[in-house]
Amino acid sequence: MKVVPEQQLRVKDQRVRHVRRPRPELLDTPLGMDLVELAERILGPEAVGTDVVVAALKDTVQSRMQAISRTVSECRRRDVQFRPLKPSAPAALAQAVETELARANAALAYDQREVLGLAEMFRLCYRDIAGVMRTEPAYISTLLAQARLDLAGHLHAGAEDTTPECAERHRALDLLARRQDAEPVSEADQAWILAHMTACPSCAGAHAQMLEASLRYRAWSRP
Ligand SMILES: [Zn+2]
Repeated sequence: MKVVPEQQLRVKDQRVRHVRRPRPELLDTPLGMDLVELAERILGPEAVGTDVVVAALKDTVQSRMQAISRTVSECRRRDVQFRPLKPSAPAALAQAVETELARANAALAYDQREVLGLAEMFRLCYRDIAGVMRTEPAYISTLLAQARLDLAGHLHAGAEDTTPECAERHRALDLLARRQDAEPVSEADQAWILAHMTACPSCAGAHAQMLEASLRYRAWSRP
């Protein structure tokens, strides 16, 4: 008879219990499903138990914003290392695209994963994102612009960036992010960015990458 080490037995038992455990009803709501996905995008699919979200939803069932805030705080409290995704067998195109996005997202810094989830999945305005992240609203455009560019960079790893440096890049990227997210932009800034974009291939290229990153992140579907 083959002897199974006790450790293995325990792992197997836990798995069975996990599968059979009834799923709390709160998770089967649209908000519950979105929050589970947000937590997975911030912490990594293998690090998230649905308990992160159940606790948040139980305490904040009346308020979507509070539930989002609680979920994000709970993710931060866990402070886990985003583990690299396991290599998978050759997959169908849709699955391959999804895996590519998941890998690029996993390569981002923690606050970048957080801000992308809040902006692209939940479409929160900058003021609300800043509230959830406990930072200044003025910082959000910079953070989002860089997160999108870095996501695009990880999606196009290996491609060489040959565009010249631009002295106005910081101002331009902030304004481009604000326009992309329908945040208010003054008339003077609006005129400036439109003129700058026709004259600056570097910022025009960055703009295209930010738009592409945003579209692809949004299309990254729930499994
Ligand atoms: Zn520029």
